[in-house]
Amino acid sequence: MENSAPAGRYDMIVKSSEILTPSGRVDGQIAIIGERIVGILARDAVATATQVVDAGRRPVIPGLIDTHCHFRDPGYTHKEDYYHGTVAAAAGGVTTVFDMPNVDPPTTTAERLRAHLENAQSKAVVDFGHNASGVVPENIAELAEAGATAFKVWMMQDIGRDYPHPPGTSVTNHAVLYRIFEAVAETGLPLYIHPHDHDLYALFVERARAQWGTDFRSYARALRGGDGVVLNTAIASILEFQRSTGARLHVLHLSTRDGVRMVREAKAQGRPVTAEANPFAMFVTNDWEKIERKGPYSLGFWVPAEDNPAMWQAIEDGTIDVIGSDHGPHTREEKEVGWTDMYTAPGGSPFIEQYLRLMLTEVNKGHLTLERVVELCCSGPAKLTGYDGQKGSITIGADADLVVLDMEHEEVLHADASHYRCGWMPSEDFLATGRPAMTILRGKVIMVDGEVSAEAGSGRLLTPASRRSRVGA
Ligand SMILES: [Zn+2]
Repeated sequence: MENSAPAGRYDMIVKSSEILTPSGRVDGQIAIIGERIVGILARDAVATATQVVDAGRRPVIPGLIDTHCHFRDPGYTHKEDYYHGTVAAAAGGVTTVFDMPNVDPPTTTAERLRAHLENAQSKAVVDFGHNASGVVPENIAELAEAGATAFKVWMMQDIGRDYPHPPGTSVTNHAVLYRIFEAVAETGLPLYIHPHDHDLYALFVERARAQWGTDFRSYARALRGGDGVVLNTAIASILEFQRSTGARLHVLHLSTRDGVRMVREAKAQGRPVTAEANPFAMFVTNDWEKIERKGPYSLGFWVPAEDNPAMWQAIEDGTIDVIGSDHGPHTREEKEVGWTDMYTAPGGSPFIEQYLRLMLTEVNKGHLTLERVVELCCSGPAKLTGYDGQKGSITIGADADLVVLDMEHEEVLHADASHYRCGWMPSEDFLATGRPAMTILRGKVIMVDGEVSAEAGSGRLLTPASRRSRVGA
């Protein structure tokens, strides 16, 4: 049992026989005053509250923190917007989001970042922050000052698609990348990199087009040309930039066995390196049959069978720190092109409302523990973003961000039951066992059985300046 506040009167009490705290599962009561957890009480402690949630035997976990979502707002709101994206987040048990900078205009300057946060504030229903575009080394210090949570860079060039990596988001030049690492190191913030070797990719695209044409199969194979060399060469480079500059590196989209090996080695040396896995790579594109069936709606990129065991090992053993949803909607019309020409269709697919369900399904199958899901989706992202103690754990002083789980609920997933604007999703027709039944944000119930009650603008902006330290929280 953690510390206990004196028995008394609270604003809210959440009772469960399975409360997942950092020090283990507790059969007891989470006592909340205002927006924060003030006590974790024994089951038989005498306490009263204005609102009592009795979850019974249903587990209660911290609200999820998604460090990687694309809400398409501003600039591409025909795909998604900040309101619908965060409503879907709340429905999926996600109480904190950090969105990505490939919006129009991309957040390359402090002025643009401030405008982006202002727009997000008017629409968000969960707490939020923003990963700014780090492509201009000279602007990194002012972006940090203006409230960036992290910096994101795609190691890409314009490849004939205006999305998802428009001008202002991507860098291939190693000298510029190195200067970005130096500038981000100065801020102490993490640098999120999408690893990709553009020249090698161009080579494998040329070969794939000659052999297989331009459809979705050709595209999937091109990205994994040379047995992952497009990704691994980039990961090797950024790990070396990290070693040289000391920056905090967060490797996105880990999906190759040698990428796993390189990240594991860097971590074993005690370097500030973390890594992300994505639900599309864990549940959809790791199965060629699903790619054949769902075509462009599944892509992203292919994860061949020989890379799967290393990925799941890395998810279990902590080499992978964070699951980021990589929620990235596009319209059906934009995706349909990919059946015949995936090279002009956008990658990316929506996941923020379903990824917890897919993780819980793995728990029910015995492939993962619920504790590990909490580390990957809650406490790991909190450490990455610097909000541990405030977000991502059920602990005294933390925000009362909670999710009540119904582990028995069985459901065939359908996009028409989701909150997405785009109306489709790659996990369509998946059988999920386990779901978030209730979401609580800072002591307020915002979702029950899929119905989201929070109003636009009720989410709160998180910036490094707004972080609370654990002591005196
Ligand atoms: Zn992404």
